[in-house]
Amino acid sequence: MTSPSATLAVDEAVQALREAGHDVLHLGFGEAGVPVAPGLTELLADAHLRNGYGPVAGSPQARAAAAGWFTRRGLSTEPGQILFAPGSKPLLFALLAAIGGDVVLPRPSWVSYAAQAALLGRRVVTVPVPAEAGGIPDPDLLEQALRGAVAEGARPGALVLTVADNPTGTIAPAEQVEAVCAIAERHGLAVVSDEIYAELSHRGTVTSPVRYLAERTVVTTGLSKSLALGGWRIGFARTPSGSWGRRLQRELTGVASEIWSSLAAPMQAVAAHALDDPPEVTAHIAAARRLHARIAAEVHTRLRTTGALCRPPGAGFYLYPDFGPNRAALRARGITTGTELATALLERHGIATLPGSAFGEAGTALTLRLATSLLYGTTPQQRHMALTSPE
Ligand code: PLP
Repeated sequence: MTSPSATLAVDEAVQALREAGHDVLHLGFGEAGVPVAPGLTELLADAHLRNGYGPVAGSPQARAAAAGWFTRRGLSTEPGQILFAPGSKPLLFALLAAIGGDVVLPRPSWVSYAAQAALLGRRVVTVPVPAEAGGIPDPDLLEQALRGAVAEGARPGALVLTVADNPTGTIAPAEQVEAVCAIAERHGLAVVSDEIYAELSHRGTVTSPVRYLAERTVVTTGLSKSLALGGWRIGFARTPSGSWGRRLQRELTGVASEIWSSLAAPMQAVAAHALDDPPEVTAHIAAARRLHARIAAEVHTRLRTTGALCRPPGAGFYLYPDFGPNRAALRARGITTGTELATALLERHGIATLPGSAFGEAGTALTLRLATSLLYGTTPQQRHMALTSPE
C-alpha cells in the first residue's frame, strides 16, 4: 500500500488543525509562498477557451520557448528536446519508467524519488550524503555503493540528483558535480538532474550535470518553485541531443501519452509566455529569490542559537538542521527520533516540520526539514506585502 507523500500529508494535517481553530506555524510544505507574477493571471484568462488536446510533448510555441529558455542559460537546446508535463513530479516518474533500471539516490533526497522507484518495482541504491555536500554524493561513496549494489544483483540505470538541493537548501560545488558525472559515465548511468530550484540560487548560478555528461543527462524543471505556480502544474524536461537522448525523448513521449496525454492547453500558453523571460517575470523571480534568501538566512541565524548544526542556505527556501547536538536534552523530554521531534513540535508547540526520515534518513537522525517560505503569509495580500516590502 502506498501512503500519501509526507509533504502533502503534513500540509493536510496543518489545514485540518487550522480548521479546528489551532494556530500552526507551518514550516512543513515546499510551497514557494509568493503571489502570481504580473500578467500571468490575465494571460490565463485569455487562454481558458483553449479546450482541445495538444501534442503530447507540448505545443510548438511552448517547446520553442523552453528551448530558448535553456539556451539563454548556456545549454543550447532544440524544441525537439523538450517535453512538458503537468508538474515535474509525474515527469520524474515517467522518466524513471522510460530510462529503466534501478534508481540511485543520495540520502537524504526529495521524498518522491524513492516512492516512485518503489511504484515502478525498482530497487533503490542509496548513497549517504553529508548535509554540506549540497545533495551530491561523495564520489568515493558513490563508487562504493554502486559496486556493492551490482555485486548484490542490482542493475543501476539512473542517478537522480537535485541541483540545487531539497531538502538541504544547499548547492554542490562544480568539482563535485563533475566527479560524480565521471562515475555515472563509467557505470553507464543516466543522470536525472532535477533543477526545479536552480532559478532560486541565492548567489551565482548552479552548475548542471549537463556540463559534464551532456549525452546522458536529462534535466527536469518547472514553474512551481521559481514562479510559485505549484497549483498550475507546469513542468518540463530537456532530453540530451544525441542518439540516446533522441531514443529517450521518443520513449518518454510514449509514456507521457499513456499517462497525461498533454499539459493543459491554457498552461502551455502560460509557459510559452513565462519562459520567454519577459522583464516583469524576470523581476518577479529576482524579488522572490531575494525574499527567500533573506528569510532563510534569518531563520538560519536563529537556529544556530539552539545548538543545531545547519548549513547556511544557498538556494530556494529550505533549511535542514540537525539537532543531534541536543540529543541528550531531547531524550530527557522523551524524544529520540526525528519523527518524535517533528510530532512534539507540532503537538506541543504548533510548529509543522518534516523529519529527515521522510527524505530517507535513519529514524534516529534528529534532522528536520524546514520550509521558510510559508512564513510570508497565508493570503495573497500578505504574500504580496512580503514580496514588495523593503528589507
Ligand atoms: N522536485 C523537487 C526536488 C521538489 O521539491 C518538488 C516539489 O516539492 C518537485 C520536484 C515537484 O514539483 P512539481 O511537480 O510541482 O513540478
